[in-house]
Amino acid sequence: MNTIDMPDGTAVPRLGQGTWKLGERGADRAAEARTLRLGLDLGLTLIDTAEMYADGGAEEVVAEAIAGRRQEVFLVSKAYPQNASRRRLPQACEQSLRRLRTDALDLYLLHWRGSVPLAETVEAMEALVAQGKIRRWGVSNLDVADLEELGPGLANCATDQVLYNLGARGVEFDLLPYAARLKMPVMAYSPVGQGGALLRHPVLGRVAARQGLTPAQVALAWSLRDGGVISIPKAAGEAHLRENTEVWKVVLTPEDLAELDGAFPPPKRKQPLEML
Ligand code: NAP
Repeated sequence: MNTIDMPDGTAVPRLGQGTWKLGERGADRAAEARTLRLGLDLGLTLIDTAEMYADGGAEEVVAEAIAGRRQEVFLVSKAYPQNASRRRLPQACEQSLRRLRTDALDLYLLHWRGSVPLAETVEAMEALVAQGKIRRWGVSNLDVADLEELGPGLANCATDQVLYNLGARGVEFDLLPYAARLKMPVMAYSPVGQGGALLRHPVLGRVAARQGLTPAQVALAWSLRDGGVISIPKAAGEAHLRENTEVWKVVLTPEDLAELDGAFPPPKRKQPLEML
């Protein structure tokens, strides 16, 4: 499995597993946990979740999936912005740890920016690191100007998790090069466009047909073409999961990339950060 180093030197796989929408229906939870476990077997050992997903239900599904296998997993969760304060972050973290049935998170992210000053969130994150509740922290949905506001705290920020797929390329203009200069991996969320219209785009279909791949595989391989990106597709079922794990075999040719650029042009100027 292709890996990338976190700023502290820890290697993590560049292809992980998302969990948004998991845990919403009790009847589906066992199958969802089985799929995540199969993902671990296939090397997708980075799992991204959040207290928001299914009101903690996704974290419970993850707990089921990683039971007895915690050491294999690079576990990421996220806190609501309203919980990112000095007083509330320790409580939110404790509740995530309880639902995930673990002692520590590998990475804890601010889900998006709210009214709590970023400096206070950084201080609260650093306190959790000092207590051993989290191994490192990062952010999500922050643009370059927000990252700069972290000031000296930026040195310890392990990642910025942002929307990035063929249909949402704005971050290529400034955020991706900025993160590359910092040697900070960027996590691409919704890399297959949530399985929606993106995957039905005729040009994506044409490139996929030429390569003998599915549109999702091309979209995923494209999201990983830059070595600084970690991609975290979510797949509830085995068929999608297996398809996604095969992207390492994909080599997009200059012709494929040019055709995709024609249909999904790269940004020519600064664009406001898109988020879901
Ligand atoms: P995504 O991964 O782009 O798309 C997931 C959807 O695509 C699901 O409906 C899935 O179906 C389908 N899919 C997956 N693999 C497929 C394949 N090979 N062929 C066809 N369809 C496929 O979107 P996402 O869930 O929004 O993003 C991924 C993860 O990023 C999330 O789960 C979450 O962990 C994280 N995220 C973070 C933020 C943030 O604000 N930080 C926002 C959004 C997402 P099945 O589930 O039925 O297999």
